[in-house]
Amino acid sequence: MLIKTILNKGEKFKSFVYGKVTMEEVEGKEALVVEVHPRKNAKGICVKCGRRCSTYDTQLSRLFEYLPLWGIQVFLKYAPRRTDCRKDGVHVELLPWSEGKEHMTKTYMVFLSRWAKRISWKETAEVFMTSWDSVFRAVNYVVQYGLKHRNLDQIEQIGVDELQVFRGQKFLTMVYQIDKGCRRLLWSGPERKAKTLLKFFREFGPERSGLLKYVCSDMWAPYLKVIKKKARNALNILDRFHIMKKFNEAIDEVRREEVRELKETGQEAILINGRWILLKRTAHLTERQVVRLKELLKTNLTSIKAYLMREDFQRFWTYHMPAWADKFLEDWANRTMHSNVEPMKKVAKMLRSHKELILNWFRAERGLSSGIVEGLNNKAKLTIRKAYGYRTMKHLQIALYHTLGDLPEPKTTHRFCG
Ligand SMILES: [Zn+2]
Repeated sequence: MLIKTILNKGEKFKSFVYGKVTMEEVEGKEALVVEVHPRKNAKGICVKCGRRCSTYDTQLSRLFEYLPLWGIQVFLKYAPRRTDCRKDGVHVELLPWSEGKEHMTKTYMVFLSRWAKRISWKETAEVFMTSWDSVFRAVNYVVQYGLKHRNLDQIEQIGVDELQVFRGQKFLTMVYQIDKGCRRLLWSGPERKAKTLLKFFREFGPERSGLLKYVCSDMWAPYLKVIKKKARNALNILDRFHIMKKFNEAIDEVRREEVRELKETGQEAILINGRWILLKRTAHLTERQVVRLKELLKTNLTSIKAYLMREDFQRFWTYHMPAWADKFLEDWANRTMHSNVEPMKKVAKMLRSHKELILNWFRAERGLSSGIVEGLNNKAKLTIRKAYGYRTMKHLQIALYHTLGDLPEPKTTHRFCG
C-alpha cells in the first residue's frame, strides 16, 4: 500500500496503474515485485509511429528492475501487449519506463550511472547488488542518450590531445571543447593517426568545423596536417604546456648523459636525485630543494646550463606583441645554437620550425590559457586510473564521455535528490 503511494508520487506513468505489491523470490533473492497494469480502455502505443493502436495479444509478464528500497531489489512486473498498427504491423508496445529489450528501467539506469560517476563501476555493482555488465549497460544508455541530445552549436575553441591508455600500450585521440563556460570532451577515437582526427572532423561536420576560431594542439605532425586542412578558419595554436614539455625532455636527456659521465669518475652523487629539482619550475620547489638548486647552480654542469636555458626561455611567455615574441625566440635560438648542449639545440630547431603556430598564441591575444587541455586530460587520466575493469577501448571511451562529456541526462519522471 505505502509503496504504491510512493511510486504514484515519484514515478507516475500515463495510461498505466500500479497493482499488487508482493515479496517474491527473484533469481534466488527476496525482492519486492510491483505489478503494473494498463489503465482501463487505454490502448498500447505503437513503438514505430507513436500512435495508440488496438491490441494484437498480450505477452508473458516481464520483470523490470527498479530502484532498490532499503537494500531490497525492486521490480516492476508487467505483461506487455503487442500492438496491431495499421501502418507498422505487430510490435511490442512502447513502454515509458524501459527501452527495447533492456530489463532495467530507465530510472534505475540513470540512478546507477550517477553512482558510477562518483565511484568505480565495480563498486557501484557491489553496492547495488548488480553486475558490472549491468552498470556498463546503464552508463552506456545514459551516454548514448546524451551524445544524441547534446548541443553542438557555437563551438569556437577546441583542443586536441592524445592520451596513453592500457599501460601506455595504446593511444586515444581526445578532442575537447575549451570555450569559456563550456569545457567538455567532444570526441575520442582510438589511435593518434591523421585518419583518427579526420574521423572527428567528418562527424563534426564541415559547417561546424568552419566556425572554429581556435584549435589548440601539440606538435604531433599528423594532427597539424589535419587541423590545417579541416579547420580552415581557425588559428592553430601550439599548446604552451606541450612546448615546455620538450624543454624538460631535453634537460632530462642532458642530465642522464651527464650522470653516466660522472659515474666514470665516481662523481655522480652531485646529480643523483637532481632530476625533480631541474624539471620543476622554480616557484614550485620546496625550501630544501631551493638550497640544493643553489648548490647545483654553482657547478659547471651541462645539466645546469640546460636548466638555465629553459628558465631564460620562460620570458618568452611574458610578451604581448607577436613581433617581440618572435624576436625573443630568434635570439634565444641563436644563443642556444652557439652552445654545446645538443638536446637544447634540437629544441631550438623545433621552435623555429613551428614558430608560426607558436606565435599564434600571441595572435590569439593570449586568450587561451594553456592549462585547459592539460587539465581535462588529467581528469581523463584520473577516470582511467579509477577504472579497473574497463576491459576494452569501447568501455573506456564510454567511461570518458560519461565523466567528461557534460552530457544531458535522459528525462525520467522520477526526481532524484542531490
Ligand atoms: Zn505504428
